[in-house]
Amino acid sequence: MSEQQNVYPVSDAIAAKAWADKDTYQAMYQQSVDDPEAFWSEQAKRVDWFKFPSKIKHTSFDPHNVDIRWYEDGTLNASVNCLDRHLETRGDQTAIIWEGDDPNDAAHISYRDLHERTCQLANALKAQGVKKGDVVTLYMPMVPEAAVAMLACARIGAVHSVVFGGFSPDALAQRIIGAKSKLVITADESVRGGKQVPLKDNVDAALTRDGTEVCEKVLVVKRTGGEIEWKEGRDLWYHEQVDGQSTDCPAEEMKAEDPLFILYTSGSTGAPKGLKHTTGGYLVYASLTHQYVFDYQEGEVYWCTADVGWVTGHSYIVYGPLANGATTLMFEGVPSYPSHGRMGEIVDKHKVNILYTAPTAIRALMAHGDNVMDSSQRDSLRILGSVGEPINPEAWEWFYRVIGNAKCPIVDTWWQTETGGIMIAPLPGATPLKPGSATLPFFGVQPALFDSEGNTLEGAVDGNLVLTDSWPGQARSIWGDHERFTQTYFSTYKGAYFTGDGCRRDEDGYYWITGRVDDVINVSGHRMGTAEIESALVAHEAVAEAAVVGFPHDIKGQGIYIYVTLNDDAEPTDELRKELTQWVRKEIGPIASPDVIQWAPGLPKTRSGKIMRRILRKIAANECDGLGDTSTLADPSVVDELIEHRANR
Ligand code: ATP
Ligand code: MG
Repeated sequence: MSEQQNVYPVSDAIAAKAWADKDTYQAMYQQSVDDPEAFWSEQAKRVDWFKFPSKIKHTSFDPHNVDIRWYEDGTLNASVNCLDRHLETRGDQTAIIWEGDDPNDAAHISYRDLHERTCQLANALKAQGVKKGDVVTLYMPMVPEAAVAMLACARIGAVHSVVFGGFSPDALAQRIIGAKSKLVITADESVRGGKQVPLKDNVDAALTRDGTEVCEKVLVVKRTGGEIEWKEGRDLWYHEQVDGQSTDCPAEEMKAEDPLFILYTSGSTGAPKGLKHTTGGYLVYASLTHQYVFDYQEGEVYWCTADVGWVTGHSYIVYGPLANGATTLMFEGVPSYPSHGRMGEIVDKHKVNILYTAPTAIRALMAHGDNVMDSSQRDSLRILGSVGEPINPEAWEWFYRVIGNAKCPIVDTWWQTETGGIMIAPLPGATPLKPGSATLPFFGVQPALFDSEGNTLEGAVDGNLVLTDSWPGQARSIWGDHERFTQTYFSTYKGAYFTGDGCRRDEDGYYWITGRVDDVINVSGHRMGTAEIESALVAHEAVAEAAVVGFPHDIKGQGIYIYVTLNDDAEPTDELRKELTQWVRKEIGPIASPDVIQWAPGLPKTRSGKIMRRILRKIAANECDGLGDTSTLADPSVVDELIEHRANR
């Protein structure tokens, strides 16, 4: 389909003041792969070190000895880089704009404020006996205290493990046990879409599970004042602990390879993995990507709509933007509350220049028609970004035209919890855009496409996406299980990191993520990515969202089973079913002809909004008893509904 795609050239206005134009990108990229030592030594200067590193790169992808180290003899502190170093030049500048769930709630927190609050909490944690190397679990709403807590841990060398506030007590308990976490920071309740979520109750329930005895203290932010249980000796009010503390707390000198945080993947493909990220390389990489990929310019207001519970929130709400002295917006609520115009209204209210969101959010808005954005102008926007799933060209065009008023480049950023930062993405001043393609690799990133035997495929071709060398933001291990780390990422192909994603490279060298390799469908010997068929469906006027999976088929090997969510104004008729079948045959080819189309009022998604195809595969194959790990599912009732109305074949 790429041949027919529109190409959006780099806009002159953007290129004129961008950090990188085409020549700069090419020169920097070339140096980054020809001489990584020199390139990354130079880039290390963007961060303040106690001791500047002399050893730059020491990395091995050998499955017998996976060993990844960057800047190993350097020492630094992440919170100093996000706070202290800005105080002199931008102490009064807003670091965090907080927008509450209720449109009347907002706050501006300056760098000076954020520094003081971080120091106070750091001192409070020390007073509770938290030491360097201890793991602190955060189970928080999207409130400034979440960022403060991450930075306070970083300040004293404690390792944070943020667990998304939508997870169940069991999922939380698993993660507390996995990390042997001594202390949890939470809130009484969070507020999303006008509803209260009982965070503290969930923590109470989690801490009744066997194995959670390691956790001694619970620090509770008073967000709503709602009623909660209180366990004397264990539970402490956050405000009571921080109020009397000094606003000064000397930062711990950390080695570059000391852990900064543990973070679990979203669980789209199996049991979530707790990745270990370290300090120096991660911070350099998060800040460099934030500057170049979003072309962040001094004074701009930047909004990433992710939750801090995901890696996107870590790297692109907290560490990247704050290391760069940016103003970062944190939104407590959901894009549909009080109305579907909320996102645009927030952009206008805070004059947001850069908006980074996810395809799932864009498709949800798109289903309501173009008028959904009528309550805002969005003139302040300059750059748009997308992350989390392949963005269908149809959704890309809508994002560009309706949200961005047809003037903002979209950076489609491919990366993973494991990669720590953005890996494949356009640079606004350098890269012509093709809707649906993440385009070209970032500095230092060496993608390759392998066939199933591990042969490198050249030119315009489809294959398994691997990375043949390390980059500073890479996860170093799975917490407490280096063997699983090696097995999962380094045993499929010798000497390469396997991403698990399928990908096509076109004649311009652009990368198109086609979906998870596990999701590739093989119909009568033809391999097809799910993303392409789904994109074709979403391009039909009646379709809001679609998920495609394979199921065992006697003749073809695999058949194509499609789940379709319709737009608000479309009716699920047999007529439409036939029309969609014809549509896919026309758009992709007769080989992609759907065998089954099931109407799906909702699709099973992870709590970060990604479609969980592994569950849909089970339903399609009529294996509804063994759905696997469903602990990261956002709304389990969706699955029951789909099973009940399973299409008969
Ligand atoms: P798990 O690893 O537990 O199955 P997950 O892979 O969904 O969960 P994340 O690390 O949050 O957890 O997501 C990374 C994955 O998301 C990528 O491997 C890719 O499949 C998908 N992805 C992210 N960004 C993009 C993008 N811009 N285009 C296409 N796919 C993307
Ligand atoms: Mg993954």
